[in-house]
Amino acid sequence: MEISCNHNLRKQNTFGMDVSCACYVEYGSADELVMFFSEGKQFSLPRPFLHIGKGSNLLFTKDFEGTVFHSGIKFIRPAVPADNIPSISRTETVDVEVGAGTLWDDFCIWCAENSLWGPENLSGIPGETGAAAVQNIGAYGVEIQDIIKEVRCFDAVTCSVKTITKTDCHYGYRDSVFKQSAKGRYIVTSVVFTLSAGTGPRLAYGHLKAAAEKALAASGCKEFSPAMIRSVVLGIRDAKLPDPAKTGSAGSFFKNPVVPKIFYDRVEHYAKSKYGQDYEVPHFDAGSGFIKIPAAWLIDQSGWKGYREGNAGVWEKQPLVLVNATGKAAPEEIVALAGRITASVVNLFGIELTPEVEYI
Ligand SMILES: Cc1cc2nc3c(=O)[nH]c(=O)nc-3n(C[C@H](O)[C@H](O)[C@H](O)COP(=O)(O)OP(=O)(O)OC[C@H]3O[C@@H](n4cnc5c(N)ncnc54)[C@H](O)[C@@H]3O)c2cc1C
Repeated sequence: MEISCNHNLRKQNTFGMDVSCACYVEYGSADELVMFFSEGKQFSLPRPFLHIGKGSNLLFTKDFEGTVFHSGIKFIRPAVPADNIPSISRTETVDVEVGAGTLWDDFCIWCAENSLWGPENLSGIPGETGAAAVQNIGAYGVEIQDIIKEVRCFDAVTCSVKTITKTDCHYGYRDSVFKQSAKGRYIVTSVVFTLSAGTGPRLAYGHLKAAAEKALAASGCKEFSPAMIRSVVLGIRDAKLPDPAKTGSAGSFFKNPVVPKIFYDRVEHYAKSKYGQDYEVPHFDAGSGFIKIPAAWLIDQSGWKGYREGNAGVWEKQPLVLVNATGKAAPEEIVALAGRITASVVNLFGIELTPEVEYI
């Protein structure tokens, strides 16, 4: 376990905010956490505590006065010997345990290389595997909960390691028990996934289906492979999202609002009077009289796409993404821009956007 003081976090948050924490703890195993907390060593550390992954869903609004924990638990461990994976039949599944500090996309690469279906639609999402299970990451019609079997955690209340079943994770849209009632109690140490050798691709998401079919035709192969779908997903993402290595952001800044149908009717009325009666507002039926409207569409209609103010901006290819356009943005600039966008969407549509990004 390594503990340091006044640790700079600029390289540990994808927005690139130049902030520090009073104390920083990097640990390498669940046993280290158990020992550290059992011996009461945490009482000497400044509060509050915050666990981070790659900081790709966080907006640090100022220096953090407490202690930041980060996992160095990195492994990908299939339940069968690695040599046996190629001979798994198409009707079989295999469980794979992944250390929480493992980069999520390293696991996606491993699955593609081993021709195992499961996370391919979630390829390219920044961050670590532990955080991915906390966030219930999702993309192109798939959520991580679809392939999670169980999550292993350090429980700071009992100072022990416990296994939480998928049911007890209470997964929802970008939500889980780790973000709600158990926030601050559990540190995810590893995640167990159930993968399959034969389920095939999940192409319900329109753009992905068309692009995948094109790639299959061009490849001359008879059927899709996890590696092919991964490559198609990465292509779609690259065309739309900023590369975190070049432009600071936290991906989608706002959640897609789910509103009563009466709100949607107003939005539709606005759009049809502006663009004509044939215009279709993008939307999804969320059940029980509620409709999900893409926040990107609402922000675009409010005129923000490609907007730039000081060092902060709105990504020109995807208005849901706020960016640190120059690499020098201060937290206040991002916060102020997010506030102005929220206010303008309320003014135009009466719909209040809520951040998907976590303000720290
Ligand atoms: C360019 C870009 C594209 C993105 N695209 C997508 C996308 O398509 N779909 C999507 O869902 N998200 C997307 N995101 C958001 C982000 O990548 C995910 O939310 C990701 O899972 C965050 O991982 P992280 O390691 O960076 O976690 P962080 O942002 O550091 O932390 C996220 C949360 O998890 C908690 N946490 C972290 N590690 C642990 C742990 N071991 N135990 C307990 N709690 C922990 C933190 O306290 C925090 O609450 C994107 C982000 C960027 C920058």
